[in-house]
Amino acid sequence: MNYYSSRGISEPVSSARAIVDGLAPDGGLYTMAPDAIPHFDIEELRGMDYCPLAAKIVSALLPDFEEEEALELVQKAYSGKFSNEKLAPLADTGKDMFLELFHGPTSAFKDMALCLLPYLMKASAEKCGSDDTILILTATSGDTGKAAMEGFRDVPGIRIIVFYPEEGVSAVQKQQMVSQEGKNVKVCAVRGNFDDAQNGVKHIFESAPEREGLSLSSANSINIGRLVPQVVYYFSAYLAAVENGRIALGDKLNFCVPTGNFGDILAGYIAGEMGLPVGKLICASNENDVLTDFINTGVYDRRRDFHKTVSPSMDILISSNLERLLYLMSGDAKLVAGLMEKLKADGYYQVPAELLEKIQAKFAAYSCDDRRTKAAIASVWNGQHYLMDTHTAVAWQAYQDFGPENGPCVILSTASPYKFPAAVLSALSVDCEGDEFEMMELLEQVSSVPMPENLRGLRERSRRHKDVVDPYAMGAYVYFKMDDKEWR
Ligand SMILES: *Cc1c(COP(=O)(O)O)cnc(C)c1O
Repeated sequence: MNYYSSRGISEPVSSARAIVDGLAPDGGLYTMAPDAIPHFDIEELRGMDYCPLAAKIVSALLPDFEEEEALELVQKAYSGKFSNEKLAPLADTGKDMFLELFHGPTSAFKDMALCLLPYLMKASAEKCGSDDTILILTATSGDTGKAAMEGFRDVPGIRIIVFYPEEGVSAVQKQQMVSQEGKNVKVCAVRGNFDDAQNGVKHIFESAPEREGLSLSSANSINIGRLVPQVVYYFSAYLAAVENGRIALGDKLNFCVPTGNFGDILAGYIAGEMGLPVGKLICASNENDVLTDFINTGVYDRRRDFHKTVSPSMDILISSNLERLLYLMSGDAKLVAGLMEKLKADGYYQVPAELLEKIQAKFAAYSCDDRRTKAAIASVWNGQHYLMDTHTAVAWQAYQDFGPENGPCVILSTASPYKFPAAVLSALSVDCEGDEFEMMELLEQVSSVPMPENLRGLRERSRRHKDVVDPYAMGAYVYFKMDDKEWR
């Protein structure tokens, strides 16, 4: 199974090459051909633990990895790093089902993929016969950066630079990043928003000068190696819902996903194409509701105000992975290339009616502002004694708008509430004068939900990274680091 550029100009490549390169040379995203997606019989997957299940799915989607090798990498990637032995447990309150994806080293769902990506990347480089140093460039809306640096820190042969929007992340997220250790990591703030940071990184990929012995790659979800590990937990959640007696094997199950770059929810779509009985995929957005409008009208229009919200990891107006969905659903790279061209030139595009119909058959979309987000946190805490973070709350609210009468649903819980303590406390109507770190402690007292160990003592960690650049200077920053012999 080869990987094709969603824009159809670059040559198809092997799965290993797709991971090493990150982005296709024509600016497209490497994607499997829609008719080549492997199929599973879920009956056969029943009772499997997370790691063997992950190995099966990873090796099916990335055929350069035999199942045995995949299992070895998966076990290395996850062992000892998660605070829950199931890795991604399904928390069932009796009313709602939350798929908890935040028990990893940085307390956000990005860990599910970013613990594994470094292992996939190293092995892929070997398979491609490359001994270049790999420089990973990553833009983050808050959670990817930390998770990527944790995953890649001190991995030989790899360097990583993370860009984050200076004012666009929570204090906890910022402190997690600027205190990052590891000789091979650099963190730099950008005076702009996430879209500026992500565009800057894409631009560097397109225009960076060649350096002998150095190749660039990405840890963003434009890298297929990020996406594949995320497919696994849709299967594990489905099987857990069967074990809990919530559904019978073969029944359709809806999934509601708090969405930013469209990576997480796209993994759910791929799971469905692999034979998992996925009902509707509910795309939940905050006030940055470009995807809600797109799914409901077929017009993607980023010409709108950018809102800073209490769910900052979803403050995104250009959702990169949507391009992959358009490719998978239309099978028409020429169409996709045209739409992306139009988005770049005019700031919007409209998909053909036939494609919109296909999208709406699979996806529903709702958005939720900060006021409703906080009301959702209070309502679920008071009604079910379950503490949601702000992103999970956006999803829970979207599920209410969708209508619980439309079938059982798993709500993806993408972050620990302790990453966003200010908003969560305010939702619970608890006043706090102190900074976010004091808020974390207060939240623990009020809720008795234990704080993740990795967030304890965060405030005391020293700030190691102080760089700040304007968006236009990101390229210069990277080229300078590329030539810094000491760092390389
Ligand atoms: C990244 C992130 C999301 C959005 O995921 P996408 O794959 O970008 O759609 C949602 N919630 C949290 C907490 C995140 O960190």
